[in-house]
Amino acid sequence: IEVLICTGTGGIASGSLKVAEAFEEEFKKHGIEAKVGKRCEVKKTGCRGLCANDVLVDIMVPGKEGVTYDFVTPELVPQIVEEHIVGGEPVPKKTAGAYYAKFLEKQHRTIFSRCGHIDAESIDDYIANHGFKGIKRAVTMKPEEVIEEVKKSGLRGRGGGGFPTGVKWSFAKGSPGELKYLICNADEGDPGAFMDRSLLEGDPYCIIEGMMVAAYAIGCTYGYVYVRAEYPLAIKRLQMAIDTCVERGILGDNCMGLGFKFNLRIKAGAGAFVCGEETALMASIEGHRGMSRPRPPFPAVRGLWGKPTNINNVETYANVTYILERGADWYASIGTEGTKGTKIFAVTGKVKHTGLVEVPAGVTMREVLYDVCGGILNNRKFKAVQAGGPSGGCLPVEAIDAQVDYDSLIKAGAMMGSGGLVVMDETTCMVDIARFFLTFTRRESCGKCIPCRIGLKIMLEILERICSGEGREGDIELLEDMAYDIKKSSLCGLGQTAPNPVLSTIRYFRHEYEAHIKEKE
Ligand code: SF4
Repeated sequence: IEVLICTGTGGIASGSLKVAEAFEEEFKKHGIEAKVGKRCEVKKTGCRGLCANDVLVDIMVPGKEGVTYDFVTPELVPQIVEEHIVGGEPVPKKTAGAYYAKFLEKQHRTIFSRCGHIDAESIDDYIANHGFKGIKRAVTMKPEEVIEEVKKSGLRGRGGGGFPTGVKWSFAKGSPGELKYLICNADEGDPGAFMDRSLLEGDPYCIIEGMMVAAYAIGCTYGYVYVRAEYPLAIKRLQMAIDTCVERGILGDNCMGLGFKFNLRIKAGAGAFVCGEETALMASIEGHRGMSRPRPPFPAVRGLWGKPTNINNVETYANVTYILERGADWYASIGTEGTKGTKIFAVTGKVKHTGLVEVPAGVTMREVLYDVCGGILNNRKFKAVQAGGPSGGCLPVEAIDAQVDYDSLIKAGAMMGSGGLVVMDETTCMVDIARFFLTFTRRESCGKCIPCRIGLKIMLEILERICSGEGREGDIELLEDMAYDIKKSSLCGLGQTAPNPVLSTIRYFRHEYEAHIKEKE
């Protein structure tokens, strides 16, 4: 019998370690194994998505369907053990309601399939659940064939840009040079986004495996995982996983005895949003202040310490592991023409069930918010969803049937970004939302180029005066002009996308700006 307990950051914050202790004590105190005639094991897993209902506990009895309990406290544990594990009947009214089954039913859990089911710290559990099959298959192919396989899968970078991953790899492979670097960008900085953190906490070996595949294909001998320091549990579990891989010869000078060299280390970032931009990230690894630099040269040609470098994010490498294990055709059969595979979203704000959701690309925003997340909190009216983080855009009710894929979201005025969805209801002021996101990006601007450093400051001043009832005639047009200029002339992605929340709220909610300005008159 297995007791699976969520010990991701959300679970721990809700007291899951105490719940785990309570199960272990109860097992010992009552000699449970002797009583039920089966081995009972408490497994500390990663996040399973429905974070708002932590602590989540699954009781897995062989031959029976697993039962999930939510909002579990240490006080409830003796009853679960006595009635369910010993007595064989789930505790009435304490199991997760029908919404939990619905929450899972509409999803397509692939990349996230091991999170919440395996012991995140156990390499043996990873191996027992198809671990390292992807890299074992990869090394039966030539490096060029691995790149072709990734191209054929249609995988696009999950960090936000959506650039085809296989094409990116071929650039780095084609760059001359003996020494090449591989980087995993785990500097997840969007407010409300925690997909990468959960993957690192719940399935760290999967990310290492995806990086090994990339290293083999491109010819990189050294790799870095750049993780924000605000993710201490992700760093701890990843370091533990790297150390175990080194001990077992999975990483090192002859990875798994398969004849290629790859060493991996973690670099903890100091929490600057701009370090999610790849040139600023590399500057930070090199020990400089995290500031962007002009491209070209692109990292594939001149990256970390001037050497050819490939950078992908956490979710992209996780996808690679599954593509190599199951094949490009399997992967390409999921999703839409332009966006293959699944996408993990972090849904926060005014929905009934917040948390992490993995859906095939191409489902609609309505399906994500209503079918999976249960609709709007307190049965209020949906007003908008901010897709793509502070660099994305707000989609109104008219766009709720937009498909969730790279191209459809851009057409609707937002972007996939890394996968943050912040939901707003009818009580939300959209001008205030624009001000909130611009406050964030202005504060995070590295200050290197004038359009972003000064332009965002002035845009924020205009928004602040509109919000405080001091708006002037012509302010909306001024905001639009400045937004387009900043987008065109900023040096890096932060400045090029920071005005998006302002532009999309003006596009869909202009009347709210006008009402604020009119209030004054
Ligand atoms: Fe720095 Fe902003 Fe310019 Fe990027 S756009 S280099 S964040 S000032």
